[in-house]
Amino acid sequence: MSRAIYPGSFDPVTVGHLNIIERAAPIFEKLIVCVMVNSDKHPMFTPQERVDMIKEVTAHLPNVEVHYSDRLLADFAKENGCTVVVKGLRAVSDFEHEFQMALINRKLNPSLDTMFLTAEHQFMFLSSSAVKELGRYDADISDLLPPQIIPRFQKRRTETSGG
Ligand code: ADP
Repeated sequence: MSRAIYPGSFDPVTVGHLNIIERAAPIFEKLIVCVMVNSDKHPMFTPQERVDMIKEVTAHLPNVEVHYSDRLLADFAKENGCTVVVKGLRAVSDFEHEFQMALINRKLNPSLDTMFLTAEHQFMFLSSSAVKELGRYDADISDLLPPQIIPRFQKRRTETSGG
């Protein structure tokens, strides 16, 4: 059994992310969910806040650890003994970028494989940025985020919209 890493921005963690975590965790001895900090210059939540939220919604999964990193994924994986990168694939549009990333990561760290899990059909449209966009218009996001995350999301939304 090996250790895997599931990287992303998780700004914030959605039910789509949680679905991937719940399906990947039983496959590995340990699954490290890693908040990668440099990908979005204007995040809604700090890396620590994102880590705390993921910890909260994965508390029922004993082999899941949550970290954040501003380093190269390939290096972080090597240092943490991870041999597999887990990615969620929503549509063909995700594939090209993810395929390129998988090849780059393997070039940087030849012992690293990427495993793709297909999104559940009901989450195929779901991304953190879509939730943030809907939030801006005060649309109903109650079945898109884990219930524990909703009060924090609504609080931050009103703080940042000035009302
Ligand atoms: P996003 O901001 O688009 O939600 P992230 O960088 O946080 O993206 O996503 C981290 C990983 O989770 C990526 O592999 C992404 O493809 C996957 N992912 C995101 N949303 C979903 C979903 N609804 N279903 C399956 N996988 C997903």
